[in-house]
Amino acid sequence: MHGYRAGTAFDGERFLRDGTLVLVEGSRILGVEPVTAPAPDGCAVTDVPGGTLLPGLVDTHVHLCADGSPRALDQVPELDTTRLDAVVTAAERATLRAGVTTVRDLGDHHWTVLDRAGRDGERPTVVAAGPPITSPGGHCWSMGGETSGIGALRRAVRERAERGAGVVKVMASGGLLTPGTDLTACQFTVEELRAVVDEAHRSGLPVTAHAHGLAAVERCVAAGVDGIEHCSCLTPSGVHLPPGLAAALVAGGTDVCPTVGFLPGVDPPPHVQARMAAAGTTVEGHLAHVADLHRAGVTLLAGTDAGIGPAKPHGQVAYAVADLVGPCGVPLAEALTAATSRAARACGLGGRTGRLAAGYDADLLVADGDVTADLTALQRPRVVVTRGREVAPAP
Ligand SMILES: [Zn+2]
Repeated sequence: MHGYRAGTAFDGERFLRDGTLVLVEGSRILGVEPVTAPAPDGCAVTDVPGGTLLPGLVDTHVHLCADGSPRALDQVPELDTTRLDAVVTAAERATLRAGVTTVRDLGDHHWTVLDRAGRDGERPTVVAAGPPITSPGGHCWSMGGETSGIGALRRAVRERAERGAGVVKVMASGGLLTPGTDLTACQFTVEELRAVVDEAHRSGLPVTAHAHGLAAVERCVAAGVDGIEHCSCLTPSGVHLPPGLAAALVAGGTDVCPTVGFLPGVDPPPHVQARMAAAGTTVEGHLAHVADLHRAGVTLLAGTDAGIGPAKPHGQVAYAVADLVGPCGVPLAEALTAATSRAARACGLGGRTGRLAAGYDADLLVADGDVTADLTALQRPRVVVTRGREVAPAP
């Protein structure tokens, strides 16, 4: 048994202002005690009086096949199996060392990430989608998920379920990183998206949809998807959030992962900036739109799109929390919930991780400071524990 004690704590839903003592036995949390409780006989305690103890963070949108370089996604089809495996291993390690103990991979290259599930070693818990389902020549087509027609879409969903996917990802609009696709255009009809959702739900899997264009977001809501990635609501005349759409997102309990979390001072590569400008989107404009989503009561997740470029290295959920709290106006406890318990639920791991509670996986992060006074402490992991095992935090 081992104990972890800190002077401030967040349990996945609320702050424990006096801190806490978490007892770990094997890979699980045995108990969550008052900070003043004595440790059981023979139980060593890691004590960080000035730190904040939280559940390990959860990133609901990553690309473990991408290495964060300017051509991160473009280069993936050029990598042989050995090099791609090395990229994923490095991504997993960087993720974990930053205190992110669970990720949802939403853009596999064929089945690379999914087929590594269950491997041992220094890695976070990975929930994988396999190759995103996309239209022929559509967004991220090179990942291997091109599909057209309702019958083939249903078969594609079943294949993912059979291979062990934990979520189905569908590309409902074009994307920034696939030249030749149109961000404001829809890649599937409502009927096609409904078939994906129906087939996934029959297999017990949630569906999350990539959607930049307003029309695509509206189709996703009509089709009953469980989550929407980006949710940029782009139209040919700019970003637009109709009140009825926000209300429908709230009423449907749809999770929106707006993929915030931009490394400060790092601009996207020039070719990406050019595509953003052509689509009429900017980072600042997107953050203001996310603030509108929050004010409308939409449920947000703190996923980042990790790996896709230099502003999006692996393991930066702390920066997504900072974006939610700062420019997006989300209260701190809610932003941390979006990065822990709520994110774990979106990954299908709601009863297993994302909370400091007895019986949960011992996925822990001690940040080097009081995050209620200084949120940048979240960017300084002091202790990282994954399923009961300590790993060396990033310097
Ligand atoms: Zn992505």
